[in-house]
Amino acid sequence: MVTAFLSVFIIGLIGYLVVRVVYNVTKNDNTIKDKTIRCPYCQSINDEDAVYCKKCGKKLKEEQK
Ligand SMILES: [Zn+2]
Repeated sequence: MVTAFLSVFIIGLIGYLVVRVVYNVTKNDNTIKDKTIRCPYCQSINDEDAVYCKKCGKKLKEEQK
C-alpha cells in the first residue's frame, strides 16, 4: 500500500520535473530569439519593436532624427 503510493508519487514527481525542464527549454528558446532588444537600464530582454521596456518602463531607443 505504502509502496504503491510512493511509486505513484515518484512517477508523478519525475513527470513533473520532465515537464518543467521541457517547458523551461521552450521558454528560453522563445526568449532568446533573434529579434530582441536588451534594455540598457535593467538588462531585461524586450521585443525588437518595443518602444518602452516592459520591466522598468524606460525608453529603449533614442528618438531618431
Ligand atoms: Zn528596463
